[in-house]
Amino acid sequence: MPAVPAQPDGAPLTVYETHPCRVLLGRGARGKVPGEAERLGARRVLLVETRSAAAAAGELAAALGGVLAARFAGPVVHTPVEVTDEAMRTVRATRADLVVALGGGAAIGLGKALSARTGVPQIAVPTTYAGSEATPVLGETAGGRKTTRRDPSLAPGTVVYDPELTVTMPPGLTLTSALNALAHAVEALWAPDATAVTDALAGEAAARITDALPRVLDDPTALPAREELQSAAWLAGICLAQTRMGLHHQLAHALGGTFDLPHAELHALLLPHVLEFNLPAAPRAAARLTQALRGDPVAVVGALARRHTGPGRLRDLGVPRDGLRAVAEEVGARPYPNPRPPAADEVTALLERAW
Ligand code: NAD
Repeated sequence: MPAVPAQPDGAPLTVYETHPCRVLLGRGARGKVPGEAERLGARRVLLVETRSAAAAAGELAAALGGVLAARFAGPVVHTPVEVTDEAMRTVRATRADLVVALGGGAAIGLGKALSARTGVPQIAVPTTYAGSEATPVLGETAGGRKTTRRDPSLAPGTVVYDPELTVTMPPGLTLTSALNALAHAVEALWAPDATAVTDALAGEAAARITDALPRVLDDPTALPAREELQSAAWLAGICLAQTRMGLHHQLAHALGGTFDLPHAELHALLLPHVLEFNLPAAPRAAARLTQALRGDPVAVVGALARRHTGPGRLRDLGVPRDGLRAVAEEVGARPYPNPRPPAADEVTALLERAW
């Protein structure tokens, strides 16, 4: 990505760019998908679905009725091209003219990959808080190597957020996925290309996540809290789309890629450590987060992360201690913005603490 343009005194110049997107959000919003498909003039819909959302997908398939051309279950994280090729055969055989992707970031990613290859429009129906539906970014894996591209046409033109679809998330996924969303907001606050818009969205997202998440964990069926959490994930997704992510996302990508780790869990366990590392070098972000979280960000996020009953340390995820240094060096060598220089020694120490 190009460097952030500066004003004459060196302060960053605001550059704000967005893509057209129609968003529906609310309980029962999934019932509007057939109408949205009709709005787009679709006659042959391919439904891409996460296996764990089979019940919702079945319901949606029935609601789509005659315009449903085929269903494709089994998207895989990091969008391996072999899976996309398999789904493309269905797209061609059915001459699908709309992709509806129902599921987590894996399903949304496959929807983007199919749209990129065919130009067909997409409707994203997210069931986690990962935020991919809000971004014009696609990461794909071929031969074990992940490449990422950014293009406005990759962003789904319609997004339907229905909090009722998130109720089936187990508590562990709810927690880690919400912290994944919080990480987008946090990194947007210290991004060099932050704008007044992203500051506002990130602050609101962080406040809503830390307010709603404990209520959802106490009662996973509490729909108003689920709705608040999902609206926060939407805002955080826009932050992810509009700013350059820093050390936190680089570490998550490097560790996830090297050791094949679960996306949301990794984000959740890293976030308190990256906050502790970066906040002293990012006073504006620290002040905004302290206000949004109504407390010390490291303490508030750390307390939330500790509610996870699953793997809470890198060692619990099977990461070997002697592999940490190489990850720190890899991350230190990449070009990305971060408020504190990611020197290999210091990042290794950060990873040791997370280990
Ligand atoms: P995921 O899509 O793999 O979902 C995690 C697990 O939860 C899966 O087993 C899934 O079947 C299950 N699941 C999803 N929704 C559920 C629900 N409502 N109830 C019960 N189970 C449910 O993981 P994710 O964290 O949502 O997304 C991660 C993927 O998205 C990664 O591939 C990541 O690279 C990508 N991503 C991309 C972007 C982008 O901008 N391109 C942004 C965020 C994430």
